[in-house]
Amino acid sequence: MKIIMLGAPGAGKGTQAKLIAEKYGVPHISTGDIFRANIKNGTELGKEAKEYMDKGLLVPDELTVRLLLDRVAQDDCKNGYVLDGFPRTIPQAEVLDKELIKLGDSVDFAVDVDVPDENIIRRMSGRRACLNCGATYHIVNIPPKKEGICDVCGSELVLRDDDQPETVKNRLKVYHEQTQPLIEYYTGKGVLRTVDGTLPMEEVFDAIVKILG
Ligand code: AMP
Repeated sequence: MKIIMLGAPGAGKGTQAKLIAEKYGVPHISTGDIFRANIKNGTELGKEAKEYMDKGLLVPDELTVRLLLDRVAQDDCKNGYVLDGFPRTIPQAEVLDKELIKLGDSVDFAVDVDVPDENIIRRMSGRRACLNCGATYHIVNIPPKKEGICDVCGSELVLRDDDQPETVKNRLKVYHEQTQPLIEYYTGKGVLRTVDGTLPMEEVFDAIVKILG
C-alpha cells in the first residue's frame, strides 16, 4: 500500500499519516522529520535545508528527491509506506512515479486533507513540537498530558520556527503555488481522494479508513 498525504501545512496530514502507518503496519515517512533530524544532528544537509525551512520555502528538489528515494528503497518499505510531505512539487511527483514504474508499481491513493486557510493559521499558532523525538501536539486539540512537556520522551515542547505566524503565511503561499497543483495531477491519475480536514481527528481518520479499506 503506497499512500501520499496531501494538504496544506497544518492540515493534520502528519497526524493522520501516523495513524495510517500504525493501522496498516507501513512506515510513516516525513521528509520534514528527516530534515529536522539532520538539523538536530548538525549534518551538511541539515544546514542547507534549514536556510529554506526557516523562511517557509521548499528545500530544493535536488536535495529532497534523492533523500526520499533512498528512504523508500529500504527494506521496511517493501509492503508500502505513507508519505507525509512528499511530493510537494510536480517534478517530485514525476520522479516518484518514474521510480515506481521501474518497479512495476504505482501510488494507490493520494489523500487530500482539505482545510481552508483561515483554519490553518488559527491551528498553527497552537501547534507545539518536540524537537527531540518529533512528536507534535496542539494546545487545544491534542494537548500533552503535562503542559509544555512531550508525552513520549519528556523533552520541552516548542513552537517550531517554521510555525511562527509570518512563516506560516509564507508556507501557505508556497503551498498554493507549488503543492496544490498536485491535486490535479493525482486526480488525473484517478487516485485522488479528499477528506474534510476540519472534522475532529478521529472522524477524519474514519473517513480515510473507509477510503483505504
Ligand atoms: P513539514 O514538516 O512536512 O511541514 O516540512 C517542514 C519544511 O521542510 C517545509 O516547509 C519545507 O521547507 C521542508 N520540506 C519538507 N518536505 C519537503 C519536500 N518534499 N520538498 C521540499 N521541501 C520540503
